Amino acid sequence: MIGLCDMRSFYCACEKVFRPDIRDRGVVVTSNNDGVVVALDDRAKAAGIKKFEPYFKQRQLIKRAGVLTFSSNYELYGEVSARIMATLAELVPNGIEVYSIDECFVDFSAVPRTELKAYAAMLRDTIWQQQGIKMGVSIAPTKTLAKLGQCATKQFPQIEGVCVLEHEPQWQWLAARVDISETWGIGRKLTRKLNARGMSTVADLSEMAKADARTLQGITLVRTVRELQGEPCIDRDCQPQPKQNIISSRSFGQKQTCLQPLQEAVSHYAVRAGVKLRAQSSLCFRLSAWIQTSAHDAKPYADELSVSLPGGTADSRELSRVAVALVGKLYRPGYKYAKAGVMLQDIRPEQFAQQDLLAPRSENAARLMKVVDGVNQRFGSGAIKLARQGGESGFAMKRAMKSPSYLTRWREIPRIRLG
Ligand SMILES: [Mg+2]
Repeated sequence: MIGLCDMRSFYCACEKVFRPDIRDRGVVVTSNNDGVVVALDDRAKAAGIKKFEPYFKQRQLIKRAGVLTFSSNYELYGEVSARIMATLAELVPNGIEVYSIDECFVDFSAVPRTELKAYAAMLRDTIWQQQGIKMGVSIAPTKTLAKLGQCATKQFPQIEGVCVLEHEPQWQWLAARVDISETWGIGRKLTRKLNARGMSTVADLSEMAKADARTLQGITLVRTVRELQGEPCIDRDCQPQPKQNIISSRSFGQKQTCLQPLQEAVSHYAVRAGVKLRAQSSLCFRLSAWIQTSAHDAKPYADELSVSLPGGTADSRELSRVAVALVGKLYRPGYKYAKAGVMLQDIRPEQFAQQDLLAPRSENAARLMKVVDGVNQRFGSGAIKLARQGGESGFAMKRAMKSPSYLTRWREIPRIRLG
């Protein structure tokens, strides 16, 4: 049996962990630069607020409903997630497979069937007690059915966040009550195609003839149908492969006209991409950088340049130096720049990467980067940075309503006042 642990309204729940005073309020979280609503809890949903709709259009509604708004605080969500995953990994016998920031699959094959429900409830309670986050646990013979089980934990409060689908009649009963668009891996476009064939519930999809599924969407849809019938066919392990490209790019909080803030921005992005590159023990052999105005600008401009890095590198200083030089070439005065970015390409595993005979990689650089990453992990990213990255003020994102980084910055650790 496979279990799925899914945190309830995760970003909103994270905002409430250190704010018991707002536990009973509705919460929404906005995207970078406070553009759209990216997360909302049940109370906000009930007030009619919509996900992925512009924030400014909904501001009145949000205010009237007494719902609180937070700018996204990925540092906080990432840390809460890491703690939850570590706690779960310790509690289960066969390890977990992290699927997203707020979901992981758990192998329950070592747990006796009669104890599944109690075991799931123990996981749910432990996460609530230790991390303050509500979690739904669904267990079924396949991943797709476990995903379906999550719908039950949301729809039926009486099951208290635990759903075990052991026998076919159980999942068929549920499948008949869940919209086909909720099926794992079925996107909006495919939903429309399936609707056009008269299918509207997950149960309809589970009865689809395999030949039809194959013609419509190939082997992936056939797998989904088989999984809905209780036959596991999606790999137990779908860990993400090492990335082939690493992109680091952002829109600026305010438009930039001078070269220096653009160079500081790409330097910052190059450093951030470098952290990811080293985390997967790779080197990159090509780097590109771009700058652009808004596409709607009266005088638009956008251009990109790339260079190859013959020996390969994972040294933030080198990546930043190259990115800054490229932006120096790309920059034209007289434009209002809205965005810049850096992409690391031609990424290869460090252990197989060939050295440049004329410029061998320095051992010292690798050691230095290890120390820098360690310090930044411990004291918050940016604790050590390059002077070239500047002060972040000009190109920093607008995140006017961001909560403190309670868990990752010494100065922002919550204080408890007695009396
Ligand atoms: Mg969730």
